[in-house]
Amino acid sequence: NNMIYMRDIVKSYKIGKNKLTVLKEVSLEIKAGEFVAILGPSGSGKSTLMNIIGCIDVADSGEYILKGENIKARNEDELAHVRNREIGFVFQKFNLLPKYKAIHNVAFPLLLRGLGKEQAYKKATRLLERVGLSDRMNHKPLELSGGEQQRVSIARALSGGPSILLADEPTGSLDSKSGSEIIEMFLALNHEGNTIVLITHDLNVAKQAKRIIHVRDGKVLEQ
Ligand code: ADP
Ligand code: ADP
Repeated sequence: NNMIYMRDIVKSYKIGKNKLTVLKEVSLEIKAGEFVAILGPSGSGKSTLMNIIGCIDVADSGEYILKGENIKARNEDELAHVRNREIGFVFQKFNLLPKYKAIHNVAFPLLLRGLGKEQAYKKATRLLERVGLSDRMNHKPLELSGGEQQRVSIARALSGGPSILLADEPTGSLDSKSGSEIIEMFLALNHEGNTIVLITHDLNVAKQAKRIIHVRDGKVLEQ
């Protein structure tokens, strides 16, 4: 029951005439229901790895199987389709639509997925209740605290029923108390069966996951 299977993943960037190899034969496996932190210093290749896991980018070589599907064999449209279906993204900077209330931020992606209005708002309401924001649904992002904004973005990430929650430095813009509350939320969601992959440079954040994968100099080391 591997959710993620990577074998010998290589990724380079061209910089002028030079080539920078960021991932050097990375292999890893993440099972359904795991809560894994990918930990590494700045510049170690975490975001590059996250982009490949999240089907935002593809590797130069190596094998990536996501929930039984070979990702390498896919074109841009197919990649977008897999990404849409399988991945819920949570970002450091929340990436909410600033002019819209929390409820709309969560309902819009559901409407885009073709849900009817009533169903979309019902589901968005449930998701916001799930992340503890029943009394904040009609606030716009800037009327919410950082921790609350991140909860809205978690509700949005969950809206498509993703196989994986992929969180890139989700506590990076938060004070330590709100940060801990977000990690608590991930632990609770993981307890309910969600697979969570958290990318961070912060050991204290990574330690709260159930397993740590270290990235260093383009290689991974399991702990
Ligand atoms: P991290 O997320 O761990 O900070 P990144 O994956 O963002 O690491 O970057 C790893 C290395 O790859 C860095 O040296 C960075 O400058 C370089 N890099 C990342 N993205 C690109 C790109 N699109 N083009 C060229 N170099 C890049
Ligand atoms: P505004 O955000 O402009 O103050 P509303 O919060 O009333 O306006 O929402 C704008 C539109 O979003 C509504 O006209 C309605 O179509 C839709 N909407 C908001 N909440 C719900 C809901 N609970 N059920 C169905 N539609 C809703």
